[in-house]
Amino acid sequence: MTVTVNTEPKRQPKVGIVSLGCPKALVDSERIVTRLRAEGYAIAPDYKGADLVLVNTCGFLDSARDESLDAIGEAITENGRVIVTGCLGAEPDVIRERHPKVLAITGPHQYEQVMSAVHEHVAPPPDKFLDLVPESGLRLTPRHYAYLKIAEGCHNKCSFCIIPKLRGDLVSRPIDHVLREAEQLVKAGVKEIMVISQDTSAYGLDVKYEPRMWKDTEYQTRFYDLCKGLGELEAWVRMHYVYPYPHVDKVMPLMADGTILPYLDIPFQHAHPDVLKRMRRPGQGGDKVLERILQWRKDVPDLTLRSTFIVGFPGETEEQFQFLLDWMRAAKIDRAGCFKYENVEHADSRVLDNHVREDVKEDRWHRFMQVQAEISAERSASQIGKVLDVIVDQVDADQDIAIGRTKADAPEIDGTVQLAEGGELEPGMIVEAKVVAADHYDLWAEPA
Ligand code: SF4
Repeated sequence: MTVTVNTEPKRQPKVGIVSLGCPKALVDSERIVTRLRAEGYAIAPDYKGADLVLVNTCGFLDSARDESLDAIGEAITENGRVIVTGCLGAEPDVIRERHPKVLAITGPHQYEQVMSAVHEHVAPPPDKFLDLVPESGLRLTPRHYAYLKIAEGCHNKCSFCIIPKLRGDLVSRPIDHVLREAEQLVKAGVKEIMVISQDTSAYGLDVKYEPRMWKDTEYQTRFYDLCKGLGELEAWVRMHYVYPYPHVDKVMPLMADGTILPYLDIPFQHAHPDVLKRMRRPGQGGDKVLERILQWRKDVPDLTLRSTFIVGFPGETEEQFQFLLDWMRAAKIDRAGCFKYENVEHADSRVLDNHVREDVKEDRWHRFMQVQAEISAERSASQIGKVLDVIVDQVDADQDIAIGRTKADAPEIDGTVQLAEGGELEPGMIVEAKVVAADHYDLWAEPA
């Protein structure tokens, strides 16, 4: 993903931003942009107009590392003065080997180091422009939704993942700080908050669920209190990267009563117990989790489950893969992304036995996506005739349509709703619409 924003007053030093990777990296970019603007830098809309370019990289998979290295190369070719930050920044040798001209390299969420590197190569203007920065900070998402990062790092040790090596152990933000940021976002016009971290349900574990005061009420730094506190705000609250620990059950009543959205993004990655064991996944075990999902569906009938899966993990047999497909059908995972296992450098899973052949991975990926498409199509068809709340993302006045999403759809990763007669709506409005048609992932609706 490449994001640039143009908020350029005259004669200011200008910094270009290339932001790659997941929403967590996007939040890092937003923090850097906010700091830059607070110090009086302008954000350049293109390479040519920038005094230097900051590339915020992703290093999660080998393909993401390649994309990051290519982006650094492009910025060097187009501009020449490049600072690299983000996950791949944790491996400076890899970057220097390919791009020796890079000016400076910092690791993920090292905001101070990024700012020092910028100061060193482009001096800040003598006058600060603090009034240009809204209290809620600057964001790279549309005005009506925002990602809210509640923690850095991860305390798990999944064998295929190098995030803890790149980003360190779990560090939870105090709950009152998180709730204050959320409140500021809502005051600034945000209508939908996406809560993100590496393991959202582990929130507060590192600080022993420290109690903090927020608006004369004591909140513990823990997942349930976070859901409750955010649910008090006038905004949709969507939970991402939750693991199926037993304490997640307690949040179901908050979804059933509308405090937070009936939506859970749980990266299951697999369902077969032996594969999960080799993956060293937290909080999982096929049958027990399936039982709990079925109970959640009874408690919250309109619950949407989004997930990601890996096929072709070392040692995955055809029988174990088939188990995953059956589990998917039984759990009716509404939305799913699927990755073919990548043998990421420095990941512990590299040394596992019985790596799966690429053609077998490819075949399993297609079969997985076929099952997912069937589940998703069934769900979409079941929405026809229903009246649903839709949040508007874009409006096309000429065509008299608006594009939005239901509570079951997160931006950029899930489906959309095309709203007829939506030309006079505005982004961020939440309207009722009657679903009149559906395909595998998207819906068509008209005013209710
Ligand atoms: S939970 Fe596992 S996959 Fe996710 S960041 Fe932590 S170690 Fe990586």
